[in-house]
Amino acid sequence: MPRIYDSRKRVLVTGGAGFLGSHLVDRLLRDGHEVLCVDNLFTGTKRNIEHLHADPHFEFVRHDITFPLYIEVDEIYNLACPASPIHYQYDPVQTTKTSVHGAINMLGLAKRLRCRILQASTSEVYGDPAVHPQTEDYWGHVNPIGPRSCYDEGKRCAETLFFDYHRQLGLEIKVARIFNTYGPRMHPADGRVVSNFITQALKGEPITLYGDGTQTRSFCYVDDMVDGLIKLMNSPAEFTGPVNLGNPAEFTMRELAELVRTQTNSSSSFVMLPLPQDDPKQRQPDITLAREKLGWAPTTALSEGLKPTIAYFRQHMAGTASAKK
Ligand code: NAD
Ligand code: UDP
Ligand code: UDP
Repeated sequence: MPRIYDSRKRVLVTGGAGFLGSHLVDRLLRDGHEVLCVDNLFTGTKRNIEHLHADPHFEFVRHDITFPLYIEVDEIYNLACPASPIHYQYDPVQTTKTSVHGAINMLGLAKRLRCRILQASTSEVYGDPAVHPQTEDYWGHVNPIGPRSCYDEGKRCAETLFFDYHRQLGLEIKVARIFNTYGPRMHPADGRVVSNFITQALKGEPITLYGDGTQTRSFCYVDDMVDGLIKLMNSPAEFTGPVNLGNPAEFTMRELAELVRTQTNSSSSFVMLPLPQDDPKQRQPDITLAREKLGWAPTTALSEGLKPTIAYFRQHMAGTASAKK
């Protein structure tokens, strides 16, 4: 429904109290929009958005997107979903419901409002990839019944739903395949490699390398990722994606551990632990499409992005972390 008095765009961010979502909310508010954050606080926290309480253009609604949501907005970013293996494996049925029922509800909302909707998909749709680096036309190598499947297959099904709503009902969709992203406000107990290594290094505890530490990942700093998501949302209607968003600079987990140890001035040792089941051996985005269609490429090197991330974890451990930028 068009509004009578305010010309600001009303943007819904599901998962807006989480790590990525809260940075996206900050940026959208800075860009002059009105932002509605919908989150059930399963892995997100109010602390990530508490600095926005007094902002008249910000609103928080505690809601689980597996249930219908009737509101009025002009644009939807669908980020709600636990993202780290520990979090998404805690209640795998709910994880699949969030991806699938959540997508149906948000697509139903977008259909009623005739508004644009962006899906935060993931590099996990490629599974343990047989093609390297991964391009968007690769269909993936995913176990449908393993411990990661609730997340991987849930996200794959969500992509299917987005494309069927697009083909069948003409909805304007955008699908971002997000590769490993890091930065301040990552949950310190999410078990992800960046948060684990920094926390361990700062405490002087052994740094836990799973497997032999030769598996690779490519890490994108959160500000670069938010920039990519916004560029995708604002791209011409005919560009739906899926498009890879990530930093192509690839590191082994041992290299990451060494970098973190150096940057924290830590004397932590390394300890080798078993590799989790179905853990992808390598991951690196091919971002040619994002460069061409969005004019986007990340600008923050891992060594640079780790600095504010480590500073955040230091404050967090001292109990003085603030989400304010
Ligand atoms: P996060 O866990 O910090 O944020 C997810 C947010 O969604 C949390 O605030 C959580 O409370 C909320 N949420 C979960 N289930 C919900 C539900 N049913 N209803 C409402 N809210 C719900 O994770 P993140 O890293 O910020 O990830 C955000 C999105 O980006 C996710 O969809 C994730 O799959 C995707 N993604 C992230 C990465 C990454 O490296 N961070 C990589 C690929 C994809
Ligand atoms: N829905 C919603 N908000 C809306 C419109 C729809 O949450 O503003 C939900 C509703 O629960 C529905 C789902 O989105 O089940 C899919 O909607 P759609 O119109 O595509 O399907 P239908 O209602 O015809 O099953
Ligand atoms: N990993 C590790 N030590 C840890 C946590 C993770 O070696 O303490 C490895 C993990 O096995 C994987 C990589 O780091 O190969 C990235 O793991 P993460 O859970 O951060 O992300 P994902 O596997 O979903 O890309």
